[in-house]
Amino acid sequence: MELIDGKAVAAALKQRMAERVAAMERKPYLVAILVGHDGASETYVGHKERACREIGFRSTVLRFEEDITEEALLGEIERLNADPEVDGFIVQMPLPKHISEQKVIEAIDPRKDVDGFHPVNVGRMILGLPAYVSATPEGICELLRYYKIPTAGRHCVVVGRSNIVGRPMANLLSDKEFNCTVTLCHSRTENLREVCAGADILVAALGKAEFVTADMVKPGAVVIDVGITRVPSDKTKNGWKLLGDVKFDEVAPKCSYITPVPGGVGPMTIVSLMKNTLLAAEGAIYGK
Ligand code: NDP
Repeated sequence: MELIDGKAVAAALKQRMAERVAAMERKPYLVAILVGHDGASETYVGHKERACREIGFRSTVLRFEEDITEEALLGEIERLNADPEVDGFIVQMPLPKHISEQKVIEAIDPRKDVDGFHPVNVGRMILGLPAYVSATPEGICELLRYYKIPTAGRHCVVVGRSNIVGRPMANLLSDKEFNCTVTLCHSRTENLREVCAGADILVAALGKAEFVTADMVKPGAVVIDVGITRVPSDKTKNGWKLLGDVKFDEVAPKCSYITPVPGGVGPMTIVSLMKNTLLAAEGAIYGK
């Protein structure tokens, strides 16, 4: 079994990006909008800010209180769309219930949508056109490339069909770069255990801690664990720890490759956001 070290791959890719940025006269500029004080969102935005600093990007976090109106938030997005200094921006999800996430996503100029959530970017990705690809699936693709994991003709099972992880992941793996035969599963899938046990590559993205057990994994499979669930722990200073969707200790010995949680997919998600920001600054997707 080989552990897929997302932290190390992320560090190597960030180093490469930093070298490219060092040669740029105008440094890429990423803005993050953060609404409210959700602990996990604060942590993610903090990681993104740190990655910007490491690579040499400029970055700003715009913080708003939980009670900001939808109209006011859409106004901020309009302002960022029009600001020529801003290469790309993200709105950290989830948003408070009174704000429509879909409206927010669609308000972002696709040319600055470095999260790759706008329908224009999703559509372009599906058509195989240049696009900002959603950061988590793109990060997983980078891991498969980095470790040169054979994918062509392999049966890949993706569990979870969200717009930001499972669905784009299934699409990317089925395209002509990876050439997998893909099964996309969700909460209504019948015989999920058997379906998973037939996978050469299993991507668990359902958000249920330690859901995937050893009996659901084929010997020699590649297992990519996307899930992140915070569970209470009396062994950590902050009182919680992170669990993936895979019961790591019993599954790992059966695999050819597996990603840990933390330190697997998470760091790669951030790197892919950075990559999209660099592409935006270079005008690589939509021109200058
Ligand atoms: P969503 O809640 O949006 O989607 C979960 C999906 O899993 C849904 O399609 C749902 O099915 C499916 N599902 C839920 N329960 C089951 C079940 N028992 N059996 C089969 N399918 C099930 O989650 P996200 O895609 O946003 O995130 C998934 C996980 O990945 C979360 O833990 C999240 O924190 C993590 N994540 C990690 C990232 C990283 O960087 N590592 C980035 C983004 C997310 P249905 O559609 O039928 O409801």
